[in-house]
Amino acid sequence: MKPRRKQWKLYLIGAGVLYLLVLARCHLIVPPLRKPDAVIEMKLTGYCACAKCCSWKFNWLGMPVSASGPRKGKFKIIGQTASSRMARPGTVAVDPKLFPMGTKFYIPGYGFGIARDTGGDIKGRHLDLFFWQHRSGENWGVQHREVKVWYSRD
Ligand SMILES: [Zn+2]
Repeated sequence: MKPRRKQWKLYLIGAGVLYLLVLARCHLIVPPLRKPDAVIEMKLTGYCACAKCCSWKFNWLGMPVSASGPRKGKFKIIGQTASSRMARPGTVAVDPKLFPMGTKFYIPGYGFGIARDTGGDIKGRHLDLFFWQHRSGENWGVQHREVKVWYSRD
């Protein structure tokens, strides 16, 4: 009976590793292996999911609604980005005319980021970087740095 029990343990470990791999693909930004397509000096600001950063408010029913933009007054899921994915560190808001969704960035001092959001104030060479906490976004302030850019090819 002993060897069979050992086999079960191996299956469990295998399933665990597989699960972690799937999780990693869904949740981590895989750094591109090729050289960056461009290195651009950009204005970098920080934001979080709060009412102030993402311009939403509670309506008279206590439901969160957009406070500005084309979806003004419509129901808003707090933390959801323009690409309908939930924001997490690594989520970057861009001007979609310049950087299509899925464009990857390497931002010194922040790490890898991926274009998954847009914003009314984000125009041109400006990236808005997501932080969990409002204070972290404020601490980041406004910085100008050279950012490596990988345009999405899929
Ligand atoms: Zn905020």
